[in-house]
Amino acid sequence: MRTQAPDTRPVVLTVAGSDSGGGAGVQADLKTAEACSAFATSAITAVTAQHTRGVESTHVLPLEEISAQIEAVRDDFAVDALKTGMLATEPVIELVADHAADLAAPTVVDPVMVATSGDRLLDPEAEGAYEELLAHATLATPNAEEAELLTGVAVDGQESAVEAGCALRETGVDAVLVTGGHIAGATVQDVLVTADSIETFEHTRVDTDATHGSGCALASAVAARVAHGEPLIEAVQAGTDLLARAIRYNHDVGKGPGAVHHLV
Ligand code: PLP
Repeated sequence: MRTQAPDTRPVVLTVAGSDSGGGAGVQADLKTAEACSAFATSAITAVTAQHTRGVESTHVLPLEEISAQIEAVRDDFAVDALKTGMLATEPVIELVADHAADLAAPTVVDPVMVATSGDRLLDPEAEGAYEELLAHATLATPNAEEAELLTGVAVDGQESAVEAGCALRETGVDAVLVTGGHIAGATVQDVLVTADSIETFEHTRVDTDATHGSGCALASAVAARVAHGEPLIEAVQAGTDLLARAIRYNHDVGKGPGAVHHLV
């Protein structure tokens, strides 16, 4: 017999690639969203054979299978926020853009292109296709390299991060968080550009290379917070705080640099 009220939590749908090593991708998204008290559902776009040292192989799922997963979730759940990660190819981006338009839920797009290990997670010819998805998105979370590839603006500090964020907003995305982890400095500055404000979130840099899964964790934490109904700026503040802890208390696992801690 049930003795307590059921646990009601918002539903997050992550559409992303899987990481057999458990540090990034769908595995990171599920752990992070659950750590942020959301109920995490997923649609896998690509299966990667991967560990802390890199990606061994990638298998992109047929479009029908990706669509079937999204539809199965949508058929049964009211999705409170959508999060996208590794989309691998242009047709997958286009498919997810169509679902995002249809779903009309707050959408966080992590425009995943290249893993920290240097392995490509997106067909280089697909970079231009992101515009279609961003037109339906609430927030994009590019790192410096992704922001440059999407806008042509070389990002090497706060000023250029703002410039790239403004340029990317022209796609129609409501807000852009240009993450600062890859930009040298004693502190990490993540810059959020919205329609009416520019916010900088600053954290002490942790001297570690165990950052595998950091982009996935950040975007998933923000998506979970937004699914709870939190205003975007507060969700981003909480997400960047969570990531700072995730990197500080990273997992020393595998023979590579390790991975961020998702359950902090
Ligand atoms: N593998 C998958 C499936 C991913 O989605 C991502 C990032 O989004 C990565 C690997 C890369 O992780 P990182 O660059 O944090 O090592």
